[in-house]
Amino acid sequence: MVDDDELFTNLISVVLEDAGLHAKGINDPTQVIANVFEFNPDLVILDMYMPEVNGMELAQVLRQHESCSDIPLLFLSAETDPEIRAAALNIGVDDFLTKPFDPKYLVSAVANRAYRARALSAKIIRDSLTQLLVHDEIRRQLEAQISAADRHKMELSYVLLDLDNFKEINDTHGHLTGDQVIMSLVGLLRRSFRRSDILGRYGGDEFVVIMQDTSPSDAAIVLERVRNEFSHIQHKSESGEGFFFATISVGISNYPNYTEPEELQSSADQAMYAAKKSGRNKISLA
Ligand code: GH3
Ligand code: MG
Repeated sequence: MVDDDELFTNLISVVLEDAGLHAKGINDPTQVIANVFEFNPDLVILDMYMPEVNGMELAQVLRQHESCSDIPLLFLSAETDPEIRAAALNIGVDDFLTKPFDPKYLVSAVANRAYRARALSAKIIRDSLTQLLVHDEIRRQLEAQISAADRHKMELSYVLLDLDNFKEINDTHGHLTGDQVIMSLVGLLRRSFRRSDILGRYGGDEFVVIMQDTSPSDAAIVLERVRNEFSHIQHKSESGEGFFFATISVGISNYPNYTEPEELQSSADQAMYAAKKSGRNKISLA
């Protein structure tokens, strides 16, 4: 909630927090972008008229900023002029709440929009089969994690995992069985990593783990366990006849040995390729 009037943002915060929402008031409009990064809101409420910055300008700045371009924006304003309201909608403001506000209406309007925005972004950033993060989102997370690692002088391990001979598994046992192999790997990954580690599906049979505050040798210990455990999982063939086993090859690179997202990606990719070349079912460090 951005409003120069601190008493007002405090009041709104109390109303929203009473309803179980998490709210933060910002009284200095120049701090909005920085706060959006840190607080990561599902929705922003803006006052329309503030002494230093006009709410319309602020809405435009937010809309043009890559990381905020899809956050719902609501104006909370006494403005009733339909032309001004239309102009606001045209620059990408989602709706108006009127001052003075009705607490029940405010809570419903905010909660419903925030909930819908969250559901929508979950659809875009997650893969439908596995619910893991998709390619673009992994990339965004990697950039954020690199800057956090840099700030806190920490290491970070970037891990690529690829199913071995997966095409053959599909060809032999069918695509549905292939999907089940993917799901069993994803289940194992979810059990094996810390909550703070970031899991993604990079492509068809290729997966990524970003391990915060983890050296390559520590990452290798975890991945060696994952590789070994996965190779012992029995998969049931769609045709119902017998079991088979599947394996993964893993490449690990790390920050700060590699500092750019592309370098982390390509070095992990090369390490993974080396693991494939040396016989598969192996892990390899960049
Ligand atoms: P390698 O050991 O060199 O990685 O061999 P591979 O056969 O795994 O490699 P390749 O990249 O040639 O094949 C990957 C296969 O994964 C091809 C594609 O049909 C299959 N695949 C991709 N996405 C899915 C999926 O969602 N479900 C299933 N069942 N198969 C998929
Ligand atoms: Mg493969």
